[in-house]
Amino acid sequence: MSDLPSDYSQQVAKAHDRMDGFKASLTADALVREDALPETLARVNASAKCKLRRIYAMSDELAKNRDPFIACKKGCANCCRMNVVISTLEAEQIANATGRKMAAITRPKPHAIETFDGVDCPFLLDSMCTVYEDRPLVCRNHASYYETNFACDTVNMPVTDAPIVEFTELTKALGMVSAVKGYAMFADIRDFFPKQD
Ligand code: SF4
Repeated sequence: MSDLPSDYSQQVAKAHDRMDGFKASLTADALVREDALPETLARVNASAKCKLRRIYAMSDELAKNRDPFIACKKGCANCCRMNVVISTLEAEQIANATGRKMAAITRPKPHAIETFDGVDCPFLLDSMCTVYEDRPLVCRNHASYYETNFACDTVNMPVTDAPIVEFTELTKALGMVSAVKGYAMFADIRDFFPKQD
């Protein structure tokens, strides 16, 4: 980790305040629907692909008023240079959208948290996401509540200082919808789409 600025502890406190501000801005109605999403999707007679779209739509709805509270801006791609864990269903969505062949992952592939620090996502080009409409849930949910992007560069970031808003029912819904034969297969996006020569 590089040297931290002298006001780092104030920055951390402010980031937590900003995160609390975001949480307070969420409407009760949206939170109730997020809470019920796994149950709602279990009742719906639709394809897994269609249910995945509903999960992404819910995530986008929850994030729609988040901008004033976060450092994330177009052109900053620090979070695309760290582990990006996605499900097979999400990888299929990207493969269908891009025509890019995906690897068959037959067993879960856990990675240490720093495994892909500094390694570009295969869909990152000139610090922009080339699959933005089809980006995975983890990318939609990820945000830095700091005022600048200093802290979300993995070189600077002590992981314990990252305030995170967890939408647990969205994650649960993704696992449920992605499950084949009883469980969902998750791996890093680079496992599904290895580097092309
Ligand atoms: S899918 Fe897009 S947003 Fe997600 S890590 Fe890759 S480039 Fe970044």
